[in-house]
Amino acid sequence: MNLILMGLPGAGKGTQADKIVEKYEIPHISTGDMFRAAIKGGTELGLKAKSYMDAGNLVPDEVTVGIVRERLSEDDCKGGFLLDGFPRTVAQAEALEEILAELDRKLDHVVYIEVPEDDLFKRLTGRWICPTCGATYHEIFNPPNEAGKCDKDGSDLIQRDDDKPETVEKRLNVNLEQTKPLVNFYEDKGYLRRVDGKQDIQYVFEAVDTLLKGSNR
Ligand code: ADP
Ligand code: ADP
Repeated sequence: MNLILMGLPGAGKGTQADKIVEKYEIPHISTGDMFRAAIKGGTELGLKAKSYMDAGNLVPDEVTVGIVRERLSEDDCKGGFLLDGFPRTVAQAEALEEILAELDRKLDHVVYIEVPEDDLFKRLTGRWICPTCGATYHEIFNPPNEAGKCDKDGSDLIQRDDDKPETVEKRLNVNLEQTKPLVNFYEDKGYLRRVDGKQDIQYVFEAVDTLLKGSNR
């Protein structure tokens, strides 16, 4: 299954992606996670991405498309993949069409998780993540069993630098501007499917899973 999960920052892409990849056994490809890992590892890619991310801006398309092209060419993507947070611009979506054509692959599903803007701010500023396994929590909506500790591996949870209120506002604005044409792009192709992301996490998952089980194209 070749799948894209779309949604504004905080819509619940990462949260749903974890559940989907567990069920369908496909790799979870999150460009945000790849950039954060590169920054942590001090690589050249990390150096390139950091200033954009810290400012709440998108990393330039050519950098982002380059890492996705490499990642999708790896062996573990042969049986399918879940893209989370890519594409975010129409130029990226067009580049993805080319990459998939080169690899002789087709998208099966493009799922757009819709959440009202007001909720996104609360979700992002209350988000906590595990630096070891990447699990995502929310201090109110999805708290860990023990405050500040990851349920899976007991690591101390941290907040992302770009989840500070000032940066969140900027990110939401940047993404709002980019998302509408992207939604139109996939809608025009006839394969965008919308899911109400305002419901509880488990209900969102059921709605996404129902779409994935159906034939979309
Ligand atoms: P969120 O989970 O809040 O949607 P991500 O973890 O996907 O955020 O992305 C964090 C940051 O990484 C973005 O604000 C942006 O700077 C960069 N980034 C991630 N994916 C992309 C992309 N497809 N294009 C450009 N920049 C990206
Ligand atoms: P994204 O990857 O789209 O930026 P995340 O999956 O990281 O979004 O979710 C953002 C925040 O909102 C996290 O703190 C997460 O625990 C919380 N969250 C995710 N889905 C829901 C939901 N359906 N209802 C309430 N909070 C949610």
